[in-house]
Order: sequence, then C-alpha cells, then structure tokens
Amino acid sequence: MTILDGKLVAAELEEQMGKEILSLKEKTGKVPGLTVIIVGEDPASQIYVRNKDRMAASLGVNSHIIRMSEDVGEAAIIAEINRLNNDDDVDAVLVQLPLPARYDTWKILDYLDPSKDVDRFHPANIGMISVNRTKIYPCTPFGILKILERYNINLSGKHAVVVGRSFIVGKPMAAMLTNLDATVTLCHSKTSNLGEIIRQGDVVVAAIGKPGFVTADMVKDGAILIDVGMNYLESEADVMALCEEDQIKKFRKRGYGITGDIHKDAFKKSSYYTPVPGGVGLTTVTMLMYNTIQLFKQRRGIS
Ligand code: NDP
Repeated sequence: MTILDGKLVAAELEEQMGKEILSLKEKTGKVPGLTVIIVGEDPASQIYVRNKDRMAASLGVNSHIIRMSEDVGEAAIIAEINRLNNDDDVDAVLVQLPLPARYDTWKILDYLDPSKDVDRFHPANIGMISVNRTKIYPCTPFGILKILERYNINLSGKHAVVVGRSFIVGKPMAAMLTNLDATVTLCHSKTSNLGEIIRQGDVVVAAIGKPGFVTADMVKDGAILIDVGMNYLESEADVMALCEEDQIKKFRKRGYGITGDIHKDAFKKSSYYTPVPGGVGLTTVTMLMYNTIQLFKQRRGIS
C-alpha cells in the first residue's frame, strides 16, 4: 500500500515550472499571463481564486483577477472575454465556475478563444481530448495523470473504473485513460450493479462528492485507488466513522474534518492510493499554472 503523494508531485512540478518560466523570460522577454474572471461573491470561489493568484505570483506568472458583480449581465461578461481573447499579453483565460445560476455557463464558455482556454472546458478542446490530439487537459484529471506518471504506473491494458461523469473530472478522465490504453468504464448515479463494476477495477477513480461512498467490499485487492472527493464533515459521528486519524485530531481543534469519496478501510486493500487531503486536490491548481505555461508556448510556437 503506497501513498501517492500529491504534495510531493505538486512541489516537484512547481520547482520545474519556476525554472521554465525564468528560461522563457530570457528567451522571449515575457512571462506567461493568466487572467481569471470571477462573477459574484460565492465564498468558496473567492478562496479558490485567491489561491490561484497566490500560486501564480509565487511562480512568476503574470496573473490578473477581474471581479464582476453578480448582476453584471451576460453581455458584459462576454465583452470582457472578447477583450481578453484579443489581448496579446494574455495567454490563458479562466472563467471561475460555478457562475451564478442566472447565467448559461456553456453559452458563456463558448466565447472563450479555445487557444486561451486554460481549464480546457471549451467544446473544441473537449473534442481534441476525445480524438487524442492535445497534450493539455482539464486541471484535476491532468493532475491525476501527473501523479500516476510520477509513480511510474502504467495504465495500458488495465481496467479503469471512473465513478462520476462531470465535465470537470469524470468525463475528461475517462477519455484520457482511454487514450492511455486503459479499458474504461464510466459510472454515474444511474449505473446498475455499481459495486460489482467497481470491484472489477484495477484502477478506480472516485469523483462523486459523497463521503466514504466506495467501501472496502467494493474494491478488489491490489487496486489503485484515486480519490477526487473533497468532503467537509462537521458531525463528530461522521468524522469518527469516515476520517483518518489526523483529520479526527484536526476536527477537535477546528470543528470539521475532511475526507474523500473512498472509505479509509478500502485504502487498506489497495496497492497505491491518493489520500484526502494530500492527494489530487494539491495538484489541481498546480496544473492550472502548468497549462498557462503550455498555452504561452503554444501561442509562440515554442516546443
Ligand atoms: P458533480 O456533482 O458535478 O458530479 C458528481 C458525479 O457523481 C455525477 O456524475 C453523479 O452522477 C455521480 N454520482 C452521484 N451520486 C452517485 C451514486 N450514488 N452512484 C454513482 N455515481 C453517483 O461533482 P464533481 O465531479 O464536480 O466533483 C466530485 C467530487 O470531487 C466532489 O467531492 C468535489 O468536491 C471533488 N472535486 C475535487 C477537486 C480537486 O481538485 N480535488 C476538483 C473537482 C472536484 P449523475 O451524473 O448521474 O448525476
């Protein structure tokens, strides 16, 4: 049972990226530029955007945040996207999701220039993943790929079971694993015999949003378990039943514990697993910076 250490992978990638940004600056006189548009006051989104800005600053990425009020209107958001599409100093644009409910997310994302779409949610980029014609992927599944690469885990011929079909995690993950020659089953809330299917997985990726959902009896011995879930628990009974020891201690100090979608007892049967926290979550923002650098290079024809 080996822990796939997201913190280590993120730190190694960040060190490489810091060096690469310096070398790109020497070569071109410019540094990669990332602009984030945030609409409304959603507290979780505000924290995510702050974290992104902080990491960008620490790596030397030229980062800007454009804050718009919730009632700014669709036309103003689209006008801002168009302005950034045409700004040569901006390599990467991210519209922080979720947008307030009144907006049509897909309609707004359609206006992003696909070559500046750093999250890779534009339909043109989703299509490029499906036909295996890109090396830039949505940040959360891309981080998972980097973790698996770092630990030399070869996916060819393995049966990968992905639970959750969101466009942020599950769907791109399934396409990426297919491109890596895994045999993929993508499950969701309407899947019948879910336990039976998960038990067939040599690799299981859980992106559901339900604490401890994948239990020990659902996984086969030696499976590689990738836990994307990030669940905050406030009830002591839940924390005691579902969290690892360190989170139980933290709960006593701060009143909540964090756990993933895979039950802690399931990890004991695995060959490799990503812990929560300390796994996938730590590579997501790192990959946003990685993608910003890739877009900078792609726009300038640098390989
Ligand atoms: P969504 O809510 O968008 O999708 C959840 C998916 O889980 C859906 O496809 C849903 O199926 C499926 N699902 C729900 N209940 C069941 C069930 N009983 N059986 C099988 N499948 C089920 O979530 P996200 O993909 O955005 O996020 C998933 C989790 O990952 C969350 O905990 C989130 O916080 C975390 N996350 C973590 C990130 C990180 O960086 N670590 C980044 C992004 C997310 P259906 O489509 O049928 O409704």
